[in-house]
Amino acid sequence: MSIVTRFAPSPTWYVHIGSLRTVLYNYLFTKQNDGKFMLRIEDTDRTRYVEWSVENLMWVLASVWLIADEGPNNPGDKGPYFQSERLDIYQEYIKVLLEKDKAYYCFCSSERLTELREEQQSLWLPTKYDKKCRYLTPEEIQEKLDSGAPYTIRLKVPENEEITFVDAVRGKITIPSKDVDEQVLMKTDGFPTYHFAVVVDDYLMGVTDIIRGDEWIPSTPKHVLLYQAFGWEMPRFSHVPPLLGAGWKKLSKRTGDVSVESFLAKWFLPEAMLNYISLLGWNPKTTQEIFSMSELIEKFKLSDVHRAWAIFEEERMAGFNAEYIKSMQLPTLWNKVKTYLSRYDAEYLEYISTYSEDFILKILWELQTRMRTFNEFKNLTEYFFADIADLNPELIVNPKMKVSSIADAKQSLELAIELLENDEISLDNPEEIKQAFIDIIKSKDMKNGQVLWPVRVALSMQQFSPWALELVYIFGREKSIQRISKVLKQM
Ligand code: GLU
Repeated sequence: MSIVTRFAPSPTWYVHIGSLRTVLYNYLFTKQNDGKFMLRIEDTDRTRYVEWSVENLMWVLASVWLIADEGPNNPGDKGPYFQSERLDIYQEYIKVLLEKDKAYYCFCSSERLTELREEQQSLWLPTKYDKKCRYLTPEEIQEKLDSGAPYTIRLKVPENEEITFVDAVRGKITIPSKDVDEQVLMKTDGFPTYHFAVVVDDYLMGVTDIIRGDEWIPSTPKHVLLYQAFGWEMPRFSHVPPLLGAGWKKLSKRTGDVSVESFLAKWFLPEAMLNYISLLGWNPKTTQEIFSMSELIEKFKLSDVHRAWAIFEEERMAGFNAEYIKSMQLPTLWNKVKTYLSRYDAEYLEYISTYSEDFILKILWELQTRMRTFNEFKNLTEYFFADIADLNPELIVNPKMKVSSIADAKQSLELAIELLENDEISLDNPEEIKQAFIDIIKSKDMKNGQVLWPVRVALSMQQFSPWALELVYIFGREKSIQRISKVLKQM
């Protein structure tokens, strides 16, 4: 039987980074089995429904290239993919359960249920329905229905049974039926609850494998009972551990950015994000850390997902991002930077686009080893494009580098100009530039820092910047001369 998986989010907020990991695990498992990955929007809880979140979800999934094989944007024959458009289907199936005597009408008012819950809570008892309506006679039920009394429909939980299911991550899980609440399946407004809709839809959509967060483990016995009540074959369950934040705290909106969108806006590369989160909860059993998507598809094993909670650290993710940036071909990196700039800082993109691509590629050549996320790009590069800032004497004078005075700095800069103006010296590649500077420094019996420090400062006027020789390579002969001369004039 071919594999069918699904991601079934409730559209209530942005896409949480933990949900992205769930999507990823579904995706990897599906692709390695040539299966089908479906997207279903679970929007039956209208009180929590947030309209923009569906569009946001689609955008996020497309941005990280985890695109479902079937879903609202690419329908197949299993739609509709919004639960709110499947209400007739749930009505049909709830009738089946009533006929099979696996569900019953409940006429209890919400006031009564609140009172019951409060009473149980005050006695430190688990909050559960007390089954008051379970034993109504058919006549009593008919009478209430005829009178138009509002009702819900509840699951009939068998008495004194063990409910068992096998979880691919947790192993066998058994729960006594007495601990299972007689869950509402249909609400008074004719909408199904999550528990009912999820089972009906997973069955009708042919889902073979349910991979989801382990917060759903306590709900699974109810789902198991529903599969049994309908006489349907059960899917395989894999409940993956949650992602926690620093200090083992729940990774929530309150602990900072946890939405995938916010990481995309900080310009994390999708491939780096996916690589990093794939390892939170999955043990690849090797020391390798960088995995391409095709390697992940090949190597990921559900059975190597562990039970332990995993800690999500943005800093670690930035480390992965830096690795991906480092290994990129320069033109590819430039294309990516361009894409991100066009999305988030079009003004800066327009501004730097007046410079030659050759110049920008050289900047990226140096930046590649230092930039962790793309949102650092502007800060790290502005001074390459802007006019050089005014001379900062405190920066250029640096006794540790044997530049004790402005006069010292001036002497070094004049030497650099002499070198740069000599057309016979090639400055085409970093090696040649290095050799030329070493030769001239030696010939004057000076120290490297003595010359290179003022040159670096004159070219960048920044506290931190690449080294002098790299800057000379990036700026090239003419621009280097211009910048240094300007500083010399101010001395
Ligand atoms: N709609 C549920 C959610 O928001 C889906 C849980 C499941 O995958 O069964 O997470």
